[in-house]
Amino acid sequence: MTRAPRAGAGGGGQSPPPTEFARRLLAWFEHHGRHDLPWQNPRSGYRVWVSEIMLQQTQVATVVPYFRAFMARFPTVADLAAADSDAVMQHWAGLGYYARARNLHAAARQVVAEHGGELPADPAALQALPGIGRSTAGAIAAQAFGRRAAMLDGNAKRVLARLHAERGAPGESAWEKRLWAHAEHHTPHDRLADYTQAIMDLGATVCGRGQPACDRCPVTDLCAARSAGIEAEIPAPRKRRKRPVRRTRMLVLRREDDRLLLHRRPPAGIWGGLWALPELPEDAEPADYCRRQLGVEPLSAGEELTEVQHGFTHFELRIRPLALRVRDGAGIMDDDQQLAWHPRTRPPALPAPLARLIRQLPGDDPT
Ligand code: SF4
Repeated sequence: MTRAPRAGAGGGGQSPPPTEFARRLLAWFEHHGRHDLPWQNPRSGYRVWVSEIMLQQTQVATVVPYFRAFMARFPTVADLAAADSDAVMQHWAGLGYYARARNLHAAARQVVAEHGGELPADPAALQALPGIGRSTAGAIAAQAFGRRAAMLDGNAKRVLARLHAERGAPGESAWEKRLWAHAEHHTPHDRLADYTQAIMDLGATVCGRGQPACDRCPVTDLCAARSAGIEAEIPAPRKRRKRPVRRTRMLVLRREDDRLLLHRRPPAGIWGGLWALPELPEDAEPADYCRRQLGVEPLSAGEELTEVQHGFTHFELRIRPLALRVRDGAGIMDDDQQLAWHPRTRPPALPAPLARLIRQLPGDDPT
């Protein structure tokens, strides 16, 4: 079924015609683009914003269930602003890159305080909010408000780099600058929401990483990389430095009533604001540390569990978990109130690798 194209926000007067690339892309989008994403129906500034933040570094299929649960719990900017950070983190747990959730929460409070609870439509005002960069601001302004604003996420970069045979790698500023110029040039004056979704869809479903499916592409004959036979070489792989390894030990302290001791991490730094297993300082003796620092009397010497590895953008974290049993009803010394016993089977928001570790603990025979 052919869809009625949505009008742009330009209104009145004759808009300049779209580039041939944009025209073909919009025609392709009618039949092959994604029209049923939950943030498209209904579409609002808030819903588009949350989806754009979730989609950073994360694929659509992963985001959809998180988005639905998030909207059910925080249906408006005001609901998100009023929520406590635990509730926000609980709904982000498993999506990773938790700074996104912290920034989203802070930005919601800013929108309530400075914009009366309405997300601004202007890209510059959007960029003034925590966690919103140039591309995200453009994507929100175009999709939610029909503003003519360019967007350049990973998919759009790949498509435009190939279309114009721009050799270079993500992170190279001259390359990125040229791509922004192409993005500005091709962004049409009408149907901004459709165009923005269309270029993301083309990158995700046709012009993918590695070998693109050029035989299904609506702009094959316009594509400079395809005509030169170099489409698979663009973009060049990002130059990666070997990530340094950081090591730490964490305590899996388990009471006889099957509760685990968890520690709420400070707001800044890795897994900021999330609950996690308590870290054991490098030179500490486990039983002594439990007694003196946590006020918990261990019942066992402790058992080393399988090492947990987790990659962050700038380093690789290796965690050596040490499991100890402690007496039922054991209290804790906790001046900052950042430690608490939680049921093993119903923990609060945890980073994904720790949630996995806890799920794998034996159920009826605590270590
Ligand atoms: Fe991408 Fe191939 Fe289309 Fe060029 S022709 S934009 S490389 S899918």
